[in-house]
Amino acid sequence: MHVPDDAPARCPVCDAEYDSVSEHDAGLLVNLLDNERYRRVCFDPVLVDGEARVRFYHHTHGQTTLTDSGETTPVDAHLE
Ligand SMILES: [Zn+2]
Repeated sequence: MHVPDDAPARCPVCDAEYDSVSEHDAGLLVNLLDNERYRRVCFDPVLVDGEARVRFYHHTHGQTTLTDSGETTPVDAHLE
């Protein structure tokens, strides 16, 4: 696992604040059932030096209350 130093201040997927970000180059299992700390993890695929990676943005329960309306924000919402 790697923590990128160029991660944005807000989650690029849902635009909410996040608690932590990690970067992975291999598959892994994520189970947030009954997780007391995190409510949601957003997955943002990126290319780093030509290698495919996935960045995980971890949101706590408190950070999702404002944005979690049951709807998902399209990843391309910021495009014109
Ligand atoms: Zn997010």
